[in-house]
Amino acid sequence: MDNSTSSEKVRADEQRRRGCEVARALPKQLLIGGRWVDARSGKTFETIEPATEQVVAAVAEGGVEDIDEAVRAARAAFDDGPWPRMRPHQRTRYLFKLAELIEAHHEELATLITLDNGKPLAEARAEVSRTAEVFVYYAGWTTKIYGETHPSEPALFNYTLREPLGVCGQIIPWNGPLSMIGWKVGPALACGNTVVLKPAEQTPLPALRFGQFVLEAGLPEGVVNIVTGFGPTAGAALARHPDVDKVAFTGSTEVGREILRASVPDLKRVSLELGGKSPNIIFADAELGPSVAGAAFGIFRNQGQICSAGSRIFVQREIYDEFARRLTQTAEGIRLGDPFQTETTMGPLISAEQYERVLGYCEAGRRDGAKVETGGERGGQSKGYFVKPTVFVDVDNSMRIAREEIFGPVASLIPFTDERDAALQGNETIYGLAAAIWTRDVSRVHRLARALKAGTVWVNCYNIIDPVSPFGGYKQSGIGRELGKDSLDLYTQVKSVFIKL
Ligand code: ADP
Ligand code: MG
Repeated sequence: MDNSTSSEKVRADEQRRRGCEVARALPKQLLIGGRWVDARSGKTFETIEPATEQVVAAVAEGGVEDIDEAVRAARAAFDDGPWPRMRPHQRTRYLFKLAELIEAHHEELATLITLDNGKPLAEARAEVSRTAEVFVYYAGWTTKIYGETHPSEPALFNYTLREPLGVCGQIIPWNGPLSMIGWKVGPALACGNTVVLKPAEQTPLPALRFGQFVLEAGLPEGVVNIVTGFGPTAGAALARHPDVDKVAFTGSTEVGREILRASVPDLKRVSLELGGKSPNIIFADAELGPSVAGAAFGIFRNQGQICSAGSRIFVQREIYDEFARRLTQTAEGIRLGDPFQTETTMGPLISAEQYERVLGYCEAGRRDGAKVETGGERGGQSKGYFVKPTVFVDVDNSMRIAREEIFGPVASLIPFTDERDAALQGNETIYGLAAAIWTRDVSRVHRLARALKAGTVWVNCYNIIDPVSPFGGYKQSGIGRELGKDSLDLYTQVKSVFIKL
């Protein structure tokens, strides 16, 4: 090891150590009604750093009773508190303040994200910036939530009011522990709702730090409540609580179905952002360099643990071998290792469970007759949930690795013949979150953008997400669209008022 590498290791360890200090100073409590309170059970659970398998900190384990308390606080804040009644301009200021606090603690938040989630620090930093942007974006919307007037009878005046829904239960995953707070809390607050947020049990730290910002920004009590805890207990209690008006969930399709089921007795509003098996389609006329880089970025960023990951890479036959060779080379150039070290471009998977699952899929791929060009096995240091970036060739769309969401750094290369075949195979999935096309043929771009059954289509790029634009799934990838103006529909309801003149 040369000197620069060893000094980088010292720096990384120092950042990790400071991050753990910050994490241990966070409240081991729940944010309910504007105060940090202990979990009723008095229980805590530990969060683990996936890169080292070391305990980072203990946090409060919220359960059914705590969810009940939190919903009561959110209910009171909505029914009697100032939040839905204040001037929208004032709500704008609160949202800006949250964005400012996020920006002001940029490196500290990025450190907490990397500690909890394992993504490389550069990706964690980008997540912090994007989250601040989402709050800024929705800060602007508070004053632009319009009703309409309608041309009814001459003797009638008819208009609509767009009103908040009430108490929103928001259950978020571990792959974007801060960005998902922005996507959920930003629009809910902009529209005048109150919130009970349940972060993923794997990544509670950024949410706890965010809870401190909520207090620092001076939001009225009970507007944002945060209950750390597990899915089947705290999460399920929130999803079925009769006093919750709306549940917003991002996570697995399996749990999404449970959330929807739990909404039935009270006919709760539900929005779901679920799994994917997104086709990334490379035509022979595409620029090879950018399409290889884009395909690698599409499947390997965040260790492939992204719902919109381009996990099925369809490559036109003429360039299949060349593309496979180049993608393999790119995968082998990825630096798997300590996510706190600057040169690292891929970190560990989130948990032992996810590690086993991903390696299990690699086994299934081999069994089904696909060939591993690179990866397919453990990598990195002796500790940590590291799986090497993996490229499978000779994959058929009917194999398990091409049908099921792996949520790991596993690319499946599938050949196709022509445009029709690409659309057919691309759409041959229960999911429909995203799709991408790489080509120089502009007419083909427009035809395929329409033909692909997916909520987002990227052309000559991948994984571009912008708060201005809606994101969500066709088919079993979800219900509803987050971000953009569309998210306002998820957090408001429309009232029609008739006045006899
Ligand atoms: P993963 O299996 O990848 O962790 P999940 O869909 O299980 O993804 O988890 C996403 C979020 O949903 C987490 O906050 C988790 O705690 C929560 N969750 C898990 N199971 C349930 C459930 N039965 N009801 C409500 N929330 C749940
Ligand atoms: Mg699960």
